[in-house]
Amino acid sequence: MTTRDLHPRYMRATTALREHDAQCTTCTPAARCPEGARLYESFSRLQDAYLNHNRNGR
Ligand SMILES: [Zn+2]
Repeated sequence: MTTRDLHPRYMRATTALREHDAQCTTCTPAARCPEGARLYESFSRLQDAYLNHNRNGR
C-alpha cells in the first residue's frame, strides 16, 4: 500500500469520525458508543498506518 492510497482513506475516516462526534449525543471523550468506537478504531488504524508509512517510507 502506498501513501497515495492511504491518505484519502485516512481523510475519509477522520471526516466520518468528526461528523459522528458532531451528531452523537452518546459519545464522550472517555467512552464511545459502538458506532463511535468502530469509527474511532478504523480512524486510529489508518492514522497509525499513515504516520508509520510517512516516517519509514519513500
Ligand atoms: Zn457515538
